[in-house]
Amino acid sequence: MQPSAIGQALLAIGDQWTLLILQRAFLKHTRRFADWRDELGMSESVLAGRLKEMVAGNLLEPVPYRNGRTRLEYRLTPKAIDLWPLLVSIWSWERSWVQRPHPLPELVHAGCGRPADVELGCTHCGKAPVAARDTIMTRQENTNFGHVSSPRLHRKTVREVRDDALSYLPATMEILGDRWSTVVLAAAFMRYRRFSEFELKLRPPPSILSDRLRRFTELDVFCQKGGEYRLTTKGQAFFGVYAFLVDWGQRWYSGPPGSDVAINHTACANVMTPYLRCTSCHEPVSRTGIRWNFG
Ligand SMILES: [Zn+2]
Ligand SMILES: [Zn+2]
Repeated sequence: MQPSAIGQALLAIGDQWTLLILQRAFLKHTRRFADWRDELGMSESVLAGRLKEMVAGNLLEPVPYRNGRTRLEYRLTPKAIDLWPLLVSIWSWERSWVQRPHPLPELVHAGCGRPADVELGCTHCGKAPVAARDTIMTRQENTNFGHVSSPRLHRKTVREVRDDALSYLPATMEILGDRWSTVVLAAAFMRYRRFSEFELKLRPPPSILSDRLRRFTELDVFCQKGGEYRLTTKGQAFFGVYAFLVDWGQRWYSGPPGSDVAINHTACANVMTPYLRCTSCHEPVSRTGIRWNFG
C-alpha cells in the first residue's frame, strides 16, 4: 500500500544528510556540490546520492553554470522553500532544549529588528502560542506509514557530523534524522502509547521499535510509565516541528483515500494551518523577514 502523505514526506526529508543539505541551502545559500561537501564534511558518494534523491523528489533543481566548463548547481524548488518554517522550528526547539558546545546562530526578526525566538500559531484565529495540548489530532482509518522501511532505514543513519554552530546535534538527529524515529514520534503525537499499538500500526522491525522507544526515553523525549510511553515536556515541545511536517506533507503529497491526519485547533475548532510568530513583537514572521546572526 502507498504510504500516507506524511509517510511520503518522511521518506523525502526524514534523513540527517537531507536536512543538513537543506539547512545549508537556506542559511548559507549553498548551491554547489563542493560547497556542501566542504561545509558538511560529507563523502562525495553520499552527497551525490542525496542530491540525486532530492532532485528526483523535486526538492532541488539542477541548473547549469559555467566555471571554465559547464557544471551544475542546485537550487531550492518552491516545494523545498516551503519547508522554511519547519527548519526554523527545529532551530527553535534546539535552542530551548539542547545543550550545545557552540551557540546557535541568532534569529533577528526584521519586522521589529530584535533578536527573537518563534512560536507556533494558528493562522485561522491568529492565536499563539499553540501547544500540542491545545489541539486535537484525528487520524483517518487508512493513516499508515507503510513502506517507510526502504533498505537504507535498516541501518542507523545518524553519525557524527562536523561540530560547529550549525550542526544539528546527535540528540536532534536521533529524533528527526532517522525515518523510523520520526515515525515513532509522529505516532506519539497521534496518541499512540503502548508498544503493541506502535507495533500494530507502524509495523516496524520489532528490534528497531524497542531501540527507538528506549532511546527516546534516554533522551527524555518519552517517559515510560505503566507500560505506556508518553511525551515529556521536551517531547511535546517538538510539536511545532511536527505541525509543519503535517502541513507541508499534506500539501505536497497525497496518500490513499482516508489516510490524512487532521490537527484541529481546539479554541477555534478549525483545522490547524500553522504559522510562526515573533516572541518579541508578536507579529507573524515571514521567510524573507528573518536574518541570521552567526556571531
Ligand atoms: Zn485557531
Ligand atoms: Zn518581531
